Amino acid sequence: MDINYSSDTYSATLNPGLADSIDTMAEEANPFETLQEQIDDAAAYLDVRPDVIERLKRPERVLETTLSVEMDDGSVETIKGYRSQFNGDRGPYKGGIRYHPGVDRDEVTALSGWMVFKCATVGIPFGGGKGGIEIDPADYSESELERITRSFARELRPLIGEDKDIPAPDVNTGQREMNWIKDTYETLENTTAPGVITGKAPDSGGSAGRVEATGRSTVLTAREAFDYLDTDIEGASVAVQGYGNAGWIAAKLVDELGANVVAVSDSSGGIYREGGFDPVAVKEHKRETGSVVDYHNAGREITNDELLTLDVDLLIPAALENAIDGDLAKDVQADVIVSAANGPLTPEADDVLTERGIHVFPDILANSGGVTVSYFEWVQNRQRYYWNEETVNERLEELIVDAFDDLTTAYEEHDLPNFRTAAYVVAIERVLDAYEQGGNWP
Ligand code: GLU
Repeated sequence: MDINYSSDTYSATLNPGLADSIDTMAEEANPFETLQEQIDDAAAYLDVRPDVIERLKRPERVLETTLSVEMDDGSVETIKGYRSQFNGDRGPYKGGIRYHPGVDRDEVTALSGWMVFKCATVGIPFGGGKGGIEIDPADYSESELERITRSFARELRPLIGEDKDIPAPDVNTGQREMNWIKDTYETLENTTAPGVITGKAPDSGGSAGRVEATGRSTVLTAREAFDYLDTDIEGASVAVQGYGNAGWIAAKLVDELGANVVAVSDSSGGIYREGGFDPVAVKEHKRETGSVVDYHNAGREITNDELLTLDVDLLIPAALENAIDGDLAKDVQADVIVSAANGPLTPEADDVLTERGIHVFPDILANSGGVTVSYFEWVQNRQRYYWNEETVNERLEELIVDAFDDLTTAYEEHDLPNFRTAAYVVAIERVLDAYEQGGNWP
């Protein structure tokens, strides 16, 4: 899979087998209920009225639309699409668009809510949104995908805008789709507005460093976490579940810090080698063959569940929601989990891991590099002045390190049970402050 066009997290389209098992898992935990439980867990530590919290648990609005798109053979297909605008108290709605057969209203709504608290955790001036189309992109030609994307962009046009709602890439979407959406929007509006969408290709107004940003913040979070816990990341053993854009960049960057990537996986399965892998060579193999599985240096093949329960120092889930449920959490042997994916742990898994003393550094901090560099892209678009990659990476590091410090300060000051609750405590306070400062409460 070409990195420029790959997903922000991970492609389940390469092997329908895992997509099926992920869908089955998704039936067990509804991501929207997971989000609501996470908010309640944090609210228990805040002195806030329950009716005020209730407002944070529901989206402001959700567009549900049916696209009618002509296929290459002349037939017309009807396809479902969604855009959820969860909360705009801190700024324009912000969040990606995913193409996946598992997309539904609850998933998109949950993902839009996670964006609210992600943007607040890292302190960037956005609210939260998310969109999705219920398709497996592998089933369509490029011209069909272009027509589907432009049709969705026409539906989104009244909702989106540089100061209203700014989409971005997510699972199975990338620069190509963002460029199409920008072009459709600008054509219909008869203007230039590159800041209407982020994650574009550089020549269409994209930012340096955006493609790597999610993996980069994951590894910055891991680095800070190991430092905070007084352990060495150099020499640490690492397992990465999912080898899409976030997973493989995280593997590459953690290897550069001197850690040892002993296991990686994708939708076809995983590989383990005690001596570790060269993440770049594995990526090259995946690009050529479509999977990591039969990489010639593989020590042995393992399943995704085996990878998630390996005895490693650091586990990075970089696939989809619900990768670790309460049952699997009992078998997890990693010391630290840093989530590159959105929602990879169910609330039951979080409870079990907290009980077992396994530290989880949550998605809404760890993968916030994607939206943070989207913010930088938007700023550059508005100023029509572009930064080099070094500047982008430096500013990203500054924001992630500051957010990490805010989170650990809240963890200690409020004596919180885990770092996820700490992130939500920080984020909820910020969203409520913005709402109150608008004079909305007596
Ligand atoms: N899809 C990414 C996320 O889940 C990035 C969103 C954005 O850049 O707006 O955080």
